[in-house]
Amino acid sequence: VKKIAVLTSGGDSQGMNAAVRAVVRSGLYFGLEVFGIQRGYQGLLNDDIFPMDLRSVGDIIQRGGTVLQSARCLEFTTEEGQKKGAQILRDRGIDGVVVIGGDGSYQGANKLTKQGIKTMCLPGTIDNDISFTDYTIGFDTAVSIVVDAINKLRDTMSSHERSSIVEVMGRHCGDIALHAGLASGAETILVPEVEFNLQEVADRMTQNFKHGKRHSIVIVAEGVGKGEDVAKVIQENCPAYEPRVTVLGHIQRGGTPTAFDRNLASRLGDFAVRQLIEGVSDKACGMIDGKLVATDIGKVVSTKKEFNMELYELALRLSQ
Ligand code: ATP
Repeated sequence: VKKIAVLTSGGDSQGMNAAVRAVVRSGLYFGLEVFGIQRGYQGLLNDDIFPMDLRSVGDIIQRGGTVLQSARCLEFTTEEGQKKGAQILRDRGIDGVVVIGGDGSYQGANKLTKQGIKTMCLPGTIDNDISFTDYTIGFDTAVSIVVDAINKLRDTMSSHERSSIVEVMGRHCGDIALHAGLASGAETILVPEVEFNLQEVADRMTQNFKHGKRHSIVIVAEGVGKGEDVAKVIQENCPAYEPRVTVLGHIQRGGTPTAFDRNLASRLGDFAVRQLIEGVSDKACGMIDGKLVATDIGKVVSTKKEFNMELYELALRLSQ
């Protein structure tokens, strides 16, 4: 490849900028021409493509969001859209694209490969719901934000003998709830991967109250339902604590990325460029046990991320 482009797509996540910076700077270092595509696949179809130099990615490593902006694009899910996108790239002489996004964005990249463009994907999503990587870019920051919020809730909860129901992101993947729950000492972690019974949750909370616990934290991944609904059942069945609901929402997606996310993004961005230079295509980049790996996009999008039951059980053991 001689000319490559980079785009961010789907929901934004902290560390996407660090990944863009790595792709641009590594590409230039290895003698490639690098282009930015504004607003994901929508920008591609609008030919919103511009050259990027070393300075264009200055002062962004610490910023949340994405300077390339992101969008959802229906047209690109059609074959005509994909053909049009590939033609726009060919007309500009661009033969490789790095896509930073979630699994929908990965599927878009896979389709682009079928139209003759070389692609590499980077996991840019806070949900940690992408397989063949231990972590996605933004996940560590999102977990830190949840833990920080729970620290603050704990102060006021213990003073008032309340329970805190904290709704966090994760439609299909409970990893934010799990990791934040372990780190913040939550008594209850409700995730889509593990069946639960709210009556039993309430009974356990009542038991804990009798054993002297003056507060109780329940983390609810949005995929299992609304925090408000969980709070209603708990209030009816565990009158000991007064439940209060906090929905963290998009706060989890904002703010400066942690060092971990910046370093993961930097390593993966550089790795994607080096893979493209070696002629590799249609792969998703990830980090497994500290090592960088490239896996077929098709395999990644058709494999559900494994839930860490050991960690889940540990969190429950330690929160009695
Ligand atoms: P998040 O995990 O934050 O939701 P995502 O990448 O999964 O991120 P999506 O909205 O699913 O977000 O996908 C982003 C874009 O990728 C879509 O708007 C669409 O343009 C493209 N895309 C999604 N699925 C496909 C598909 N099957 N074929 C082609 N393009 C797709």
